[in-house]
Amino acid sequence: YEVRYSNEDFETAFDRSMIAFSAAKNSRDKFVVFYNDAMEENLVWEQFVEDHFQEAIEKHEFKVYYQAKVSALTGKVSGAEALVRWIRSDGSVVFPGKFIPVLENNGMIAELDRYMFQEVVKHQKAWLDQGIPIVPVSVNLSRVQLAEQNFFERYKKMLEQSSLPSKYVSLEFTESAMFDNEEILRDTVDQIHDAGMKVLIDDFGVGFSSMMTLKTIPADIMKVDKCFVDSIGDERGNKIIIGLIEFAVSLGMSVTAEGVEDEHQYLFLKEHNCNDIQGYYFARPIPAEEYCEKFLKTA
Ligand code: C2E
Ligand code: MG
Ligand code: MG
Repeated sequence: YEVRYSNEDFETAFDRSMIAFSAAKNSRDKFVVFYNDAMEENLVWEQFVEDHFQEAIEKHEFKVYYQAKVSALTGKVSGAEALVRWIRSDGSVVFPGKFIPVLENNGMIAELDRYMFQEVVKHQKAWLDQGIPIVPVSVNLSRVQLAEQNFFERYKKMLEQSSLPSKYVSLEFTESAMFDNEEILRDTVDQIHDAGMKVLIDDFGVGFSSMMTLKTIPADIMKVDKCFVDSIGDERGNKIIIGLIEFAVSLGMSVTAEGVEDEHQYLFLKEHNCNDIQGYYFARPIPAEEYCEKFLKTA
């Protein structure tokens, strides 16, 4: 090995070796890892998120952005997905990819997810009371939550207290959320259904347990991952996505395609009986007010 000398003091050198050590421990394929500055920056960021999370919740810095979904058949808005954005006090926007993994690691994600659900329920109820024709909104749930028994109780309570009809909210799970304990999972899904809400499987097809998941989980809507939409146009890609749609339909599920960016993809999906379309081609995630003006009031 190359031996590198630096003039850092003992404490710094020790801290950095521990950082490299933990990177090696978390790595699947590396036994030797050298420290680099990016590792430390990442740790600093994680600490920042951890230290500022509560304050950000209290100051309502987390905002619900809504991305409309469109019915392939009618071209009309059929629903929306709630996506979190962290608007910092200086106005900068932080995307979920930057802080969700951190919150998943330190266990704070459950609180954010409940906050998002509460906000969505509040928006939906307010719009409904104003006579605006709302559509169902799906809220993302972190995989961490499913391990918690009775996690749905609190969601149910929020819903009941709002008196929003339950058909106007639904929950998205990723497949990777679904491997842990089949029984708990099954029970949770039953509770969600009993409450009158739908269950969506997010990013379908990219996890490794795809097919078996569906055996346990009677989900209502399959969200076909963007990577399949991206491969439309390729001969095998076309066959796979057609197969996926038929597969979902045979299990009684409705299909939503994610990440649809152009007309060609849209027309292909429509032709092959995909039910709903989500993607930049029709709508980007936008703040609540803008979504309401643009997609609900004009319906
Ligand atoms: P997701 O649930 O699969 O959401 C779809 C992501 O794809 C969103 O990214 C959306 O902005 C993006 N997207 C939609 N249409 C297109 C398109 O046509 N092209 C491209 N390139 N991208 C498109 P976003 O908002 O950055 O969210 C990323 C992920 O973060 C989400 O993936 C979800 O897993 C997670 N997430 C977002 N909000 C929450 C939340 O409140 N709770 C939890 N637990 N996770 C969340
Ligand atoms: Mg989602
Ligand atoms: Mg997705």
